[in-house]
Amino acid sequence: MRGRIAEVFDSIQGEGLYLGEKQIFVRFYGCNLGCKFCDTKISSFMEYEPEELFEELKLYQDKYHSVSFTGGEPLLQKDFLKEMLKLTRKGNFRNYLETNGTLYEELKEIIDYVDIIAMDLKLPSSTGLNGFWEEHRLFLETASQREVFLKAVISRDTQEEDLRRGLRLMRETAQGAVLVLQPDSNEDKAHLRDKLAKFKELCREERVTVCLVNQIHKVIGVR
Ligand code: SF4
Repeated sequence: MRGRIAEVFDSIQGEGLYLGEKQIFVRFYGCNLGCKFCDTKISSFMEYEPEELFEELKLYQDKYHSVSFTGGEPLLQKDFLKEMLKLTRKGNFRNYLETNGTLYEELKEIIDYVDIIAMDLKLPSSTGLNGFWEEHRLFLETASQREVFLKAVISRDTQEEDLRRGLRLMRETAQGAVLVLQPDSNEDKAHLRDKLAKFKELCREERVTVCLVNQIHKVIGVR
């Protein structure tokens, strides 16, 4: 079985609850969505056998928080991902899955082997796509067996009603999970300030723990 991998590198986590943690990143090729704010344009890949990729990961000698399986969408290659999750655990690496939270059937097949899930809450007014409410619901029902937190990109187009719906979904399926609000890094932050303050208040009203975290890669100039 061969996986299509766009790149492998080490850096610090640039977003979410584990911001600043040192990780090895394995970027999977391919995505099933096309969010309008996407800045991950992947045009090429290398093919690896799972053991071959694991050998490469072992060459990283520093102390790492975890191996981040990111994309694209890693669950599109669930069989290869499953092998990699098993191998990293066996090799005493913690693993961390970054996912758009739509491939719920695939998640069921790997859930026993994953440590931390960082799931995107795809708000339609932010992504420019249709909503994935039912997919997210089914995804969270499984993901909540593990440590999971959610991230939502907030832009000038994001509608309050979308956030309310996302918060209700979180309350119903993943009680206690934290939501990270992430200002769109392509937009000027100043004009989002009032909206973000209002959205944080909404989260409190809906009793969802929230934090506001900028993507820092572009700010500090790392990958
Ligand atoms: S899910 Fe992620 S990788 Fe896929 S299009 Fe959206 S932002 Fe890009």
